[in-house]
Amino acid sequence: MANSRYEYVKQFELSDTLLPGCWIVIRIDGRGFTRYSQEHGFAKPNDSRALDLMNTCALDVMKEIPDIVFAYGVSDEYSFVIRKTSTLYQRRASKLVSTIVSYFAACYVMNWDTHIRSVKMRYPPAFDGRAVCYPTDEILRDYLCWRQVDCHINNQYNTCFWTLVGSGKSKTEAQNILKGTLSDFKNELLFKDFGINYNSLPAMFRKGSCVYRKRVEEVVMKKKEEKKEEKKEEEEEEEEEKEEEKEGKEEKEEEEEKEKEKEEE
Ligand code: ATP
Ligand code: ATP
Ligand code: MG
Ligand code: MG
Ligand code: MG
Ligand code: MG
Repeated sequence: MANSRYEYVKQFELSDTLLPGCWIVIRIDGRGFTRYSQEHGFAKPNDSRALDLMNTCALDVMKEIPDIVFAYGVSDEYSFVIRKTSTLYQRRASKLVSTIVSYFAACYVMNWDTHIRSVKMRYPPAFDGRAVCYPTDEILRDYLCWRQVDCHINNQYNTCFWTLVGSGKSKTEAQNILKGTLSDFKNELLFKDFGINYNSLPAMFRKGSCVYRKRVEEVVMKKKEEKKEEKKEEEEEEEEEKEEEKEGKEEKEEEEEKEKEKEEE
């Protein structure tokens, strides 16, 4: 239906192409997961099944979109790093974000039963998403550090909070105890009052998860037929080369003879 009189409406679509040559990070985050985690009985502060589910979905996204080189996840969020030179969807932000976020949500539903077997999904999950460009490797690294520091701060607070609540304190009491406290205080509280060594908690809780690609060497076994075919081609090529060489020699000899004849004259 090209060139209909309605075509002009295309002009209202604004460009959202992301800067070339920059890393693109797409960060997605669960919508209202404070409630979602409660309604589905996630263990507090960290339900490993729910984290494993997030990691499986991230892996699925990376399998689907080869331009993603790295992903980092914590809690209900995941950051996907797209390579600098990617031209996927002409680097259009809305296309990249909507494809990744909708695929992730669909995978979350598809993979639910294999990770959270005992609980029926009560309502559909949703995720929001955004795209940000980072111009240098250093800034990209700082972005990832920022997310990981956030993971640490939240996890340390939540571990203290839920440990206090588990020990019989009310949520308000736990909040008041932790209000304005520093990292060292929280570590000591866990260790002295509850015998918990924060550093011995699972790394996935303290530091988050990452998915990356590994280069592998692949040995390709060829079929006998293919090998025969290749050998034949190689032989033919050699034969041709020899032929050419011979021809070249003959031409040279002829020329030399002519030169001689000229000299004699
Ligand atoms: P928003 O829609 O603004 O993102 P939100 O309720 O999702 O709102 P977040 O700041 O994203 O707010 O927080 C995520 C919530 O999900 C936290 O309350 C966190 O405890 C909970 N959550 C996420 N993953 C898990 C998990 N694996 N186990 C337990 N709780 C989790
Ligand atoms: P892109 O990722 O670029 O959108 P696409 O293959 O989805 O690629 P579209 O232009 O969106 O391309 O076309 C949608 C395709 O899905 C068409 O081939 C259409 O025939 C098919 N399709 C969509 N809905 C139906 C349906 N209800 N019944 C049969 N075919 C459908
Ligand atoms: Mg959010
Ligand atoms: Mg959220
Ligand atoms: Mg979040
Ligand atoms: Mg389509």
